[in-house]
Amino acid sequence: MKLLCDIPSGTEVLVHICCAPDASYGIRALRDRFDITGFFYNPNIDSREEFRKRLRATLDLREKDPFSLVVGTGGEDAWENVARGMEGEPERGRRCEACVRLRMRETARKAAELGMPAFGTVLTVSPKKDAAMVNRVGREEGDRSGIRFVEADLKKGDGYLKSVRASKEMGLYRQRYCGCRHSMRKDPPLGPVEQTEQGGPPNAPR
Ligand code: SF4
Repeated sequence: MKLLCDIPSGTEVLVHICCAPDASYGIRALRDRFDITGFFYNPNIDSREEFRKRLRATLDLREKDPFSLVVGTGGEDAWENVARGMEGEPERGRRCEACVRLRMRETARKAAELGMPAFGTVLTVSPKKDAAMVNRVGREEGDRSGIRFVEADLKKGDGYLKSVRASKEMGLYRQRYCGCRHSMRKDPPLGPVEQTEQGGPPNAPR
């Protein structure tokens, strides 16, 4: 992890969790420095079945490597509204920025509700995520809400590889696409060796 802010050690931070594989490393890395609570909030996920799988995996992670967790629900209509008209955008494009912003805004709102002074996310573990965009959006939402955003690039220092290893050791469910219906791929799944040696599958978990 590369930390890109000067928020003091021990600060309470609400950490947005997109999926258990990213959290398997991201939560550990942030917990070394901050007093963290996880926040699973993902109205972008395309079906209830997939939502339940990713939430179940996050609960499995919490059982195996305990941390406080808050589960956020709702927001599906808001997600459809922000994504409308951008269905054909490539990943890392404008739709993804709107999707990240929606989730960061709710994480900041929840942090304020819980009386926490800071928020962050594990999204930057994935090599498929634009860390600069995630950090800019987080910073903007932090400025908007008055809650500080923990800027970091969690993939630095082999963060992604560590997440692949940790989630494999814990037997966590690993999804094959980012989350929304526009991100679904028809590629066959890659094996674990290809995932680790190639730096992540083409549709790596976010
Ligand atoms: S590809 Fe991922 S980040 Fe982009 S809009 Fe879909 S779910 Fe959100």
